[in-house]
Amino acid sequence: MKTYKIPMVPGPTSVSHEVLEAGMVNFGSADLERDYVDLYVETGKMLGKIMQTEHTVVIQTGEGMLALWGALKSSLRAGDRVLVLSTGLFGYGMGEMAESLGCKVRIVEFGFDETLHDYALIEAAIRDFQPKMITMVQNETPSGTMNPVEEVGRLKEKYGVPLLYVDAVSGIGGSVVKADEWHVDFCLGGSQKCLSAPASMAFLSVSPRAWEIIGEVGYAGYDALLPYRTAVEQSYFPYTPYWQGTAQLHRACRLLLEEGLEKVIARHEKVAEYCRKRVQEMGLRLYPAAGAVPSPTVTAVYVPEGMTWADLDARLRDRGVVMGGNYGCLAGKVFRIGHMGTQANLNLVKEALDVLEETLHG
Ligand code: PLP
Repeated sequence: MKTYKIPMVPGPTSVSHEVLEAGMVNFGSADLERDYVDLYVETGKMLGKIMQTEHTVVIQTGEGMLALWGALKSSLRAGDRVLVLSTGLFGYGMGEMAESLGCKVRIVEFGFDETLHDYALIEAAIRDFQPKMITMVQNETPSGTMNPVEEVGRLKEKYGVPLLYVDAVSGIGGSVVKADEWHVDFCLGGSQKCLSAPASMAFLSVSPRAWEIIGEVGYAGYDALLPYRTAVEQSYFPYTPYWQGTAQLHRACRLLLEEGLEKVIARHEKVAEYCRKRVQEMGLRLYPAAGAVPSPTVTAVYVPEGMTWADLDARLRDRGVVMGGNYGCLAGKVFRIGHMGTQANLNLVKEALDVLEETLHG
């Protein structure tokens, strides 16, 4: 198995020894022990600070997709109306997920290289479609773009839409997320992006309104949220919790909060700005269109003409650098430099970009 000296993939990000070590111990029998419940509660509180929410934070064993599915299945029934705001692969994906549950889906679509912008269009869609849920992605990892949740939250409130579902998987811990102030009912994350813990835990904030709806829907399944409503109070989890994974997530949150949320976000912004400047100086073209908000956690760049991604990727790997390829319609056309979590490090990014420059021009 190959390993790389300079990891620049936008998740899973490289895990520090300190975080790995937090899980390299044997614990007791998880849900039968108060210690686990305390660890779970404390981790949830720290995640709440990072997402700026006072709502319950649920932590599940799995990765981002688990929480994404769990929240949809737990709060929607066949026939429910879901308004999907899409600026990319994950945005569209949510529409497909809701459709597979039998929901009526309407998509307000923008270009993959754009940020949500036409609020009159979004407002008209809310008024006309009267959705039960609005979905959106705060940070479209494949496109390297950010979307403003605040504006959508305001519209959600204005029209009394019951649920706002926000995939913030690659933004939490690397960008400003104000789940409560933005009226988010489900703010969804995973351990392997900006928190730089192993790809093992999913988490989400759940608003009181969302809990009411979850209770009404009554979905039962491995990914169901309902059992988490009483898990802490009753010391009873729906399956054996992953003690080591929770401990690693706990350590990752603690490291982040010790550094300071604002400082961490400023570090991501500084590194992202440097990255964008350097790739443009090399003659490369950024993927986000003019006017789109570039992501502070991942930079998406067009594969240069006359070169295939497979070739560029192989040459970078030969020099110890691994960057991210892409998916769907962006596969082979756009590659990504993941500067999130441990990788939001100016020296590391500089090293990676020096190698990229050498590979292209050297
Ligand atoms: N949402 C976004 C925006 C992502 O970038 C990803 C992963 O790349 C996910 C959801 C899914 O997360 P995971 O792969 O950790 O399940």
